[in-house]
Formats: sequence, structure tokens, C-alpha cells
Amino acid sequence: SAPVGVLALQGNVPEHLDALRACGADARPVRRPSELAEVAGLVLPGGESTTLSKLLEAFELLEPLRERLRAGMPAFGSCAGMILLAREAVDARPDQHQLGALDITVRRNAFGRQVQSFETDLAVTGIHGGPVRAVFIRAPWVESTGRGVEVLARVPGSVRGEASGKVVAVRQGPVMATAFHPEQTGDARLHDLFLRQVRDRVST
Ligand code: GLN
Repeated sequence: SAPVGVLALQGNVPEHLDALRACGADARPVRRPSELAEVAGLVLPGGESTTLSKLLEAFELLEPLRERLRAGMPAFGSCAGMILLAREAVDARPDQHQLGALDITVRRNAFGRQVQSFETDLAVTGIHGGPVRAVFIRAPWVESTGRGVEVLARVPGSVRGEASGKVVAVRQGPVMATAFHPEQTGDARLHDLFLRQVRDRVST
């Protein structure tokens, strides 16, 4: 099967490679434009979106990545990766680059006003066999979604305060993103969903 990549500039790279490999994928770290050109899909891990934005530029990956996304490459962003994929990020540094592959506005460090990190069980559209354990670490949430964006998960009503009901997983065509960290729990169902998107794309 076609190789898939994990953007390997910063953040939870080995955990994502492990999860993809556990699903049977040929998963590779991507640091150079030539490596990006070889993969059929890309995971953008969590980390720190301002730093990732700068590193994308320094490694000359920003424009090649924008081009691949425009051409329909499947991608899966988690946390900082979701922020980068968004069209707009609130509370981000003004010079932070947005890839604009998802027609969403995210709020950076949104949960930070209540709690830095927390975990909860989420029902996620397209994921079968029970809820997903979602680990949020200085996570964003999605403030608004454009018309082509499918909401995959919201913070349940059992979580009190402002976070309740906030959108934390989305999909638009071949691009999906979660505000939480699916690589932290040993549950590779979201990676598997992403890999299905890659296979669908490769075979059509
Ligand atoms: N708070 C980070 C940011 O704004 C994201 C945190 C994460 O990826 N775990 O980029």
C-alpha cells in the first residue's frame, strides 16, 4: 500500500508512527519536500502551532504542503495539527501560518481558561465499537465551521462549563482533525479511519 507520512518537525511523532504501523501502514517521518512528495497522506501531530508554523517555513515545507492539500491529499491533524490545518486561528500569533485546508475557526488554548488538560469519553462519528478516550492537552476547540465541514465529535454535556458542547473533531472531504490526542491512548481507530480515507483516495 502507498506510504503515509507523519510531519516530523516537532511533537508526538513516534506515537503517531506507532499507531499507523499498528494499523498495517507503511508510515514514515516527513521532514523534507522530497519525503512529502512520496506519501499519499499526512498526519500533523500535536506540539506547538507557532513553532510548527516556523519550522514548516524553515524546512521549506509550507508551500509544498499547501499545494498537496489543495490537490486533495488526505490529512489528519491533532491539536496543534488541527490549528495549522484551520482557515483561521483565534488567539494565535498574527504571523502564524494557516494551511487553510479546513474551513473552520479554532480558538487556541481554549480549554486553558478552565483547565490545562483533561480526559473524557467521546462519541465520534465514523468510529464504531464504543466511545473514544480523548486526551486534551492545552487544546483548541472549534468555534465555527463552514458549510462543507462535518462535525465528528463534541465535548459531552457531562463536562461542565464553557467547554460543554464544543466541537472537537471535524472532517472536510479528505481532511480530518481532532482537538485531542488520539496517539496517547493505544486506540488506533482514528488512525484507521484516516488510513481508509487514504486508501479511498488512492484507489479512485
Ligand atoms: N497549545 C498548543 C498550540 O497552540 C497545542 C497543544 C498541543 O498540540 N497539545 O499550538
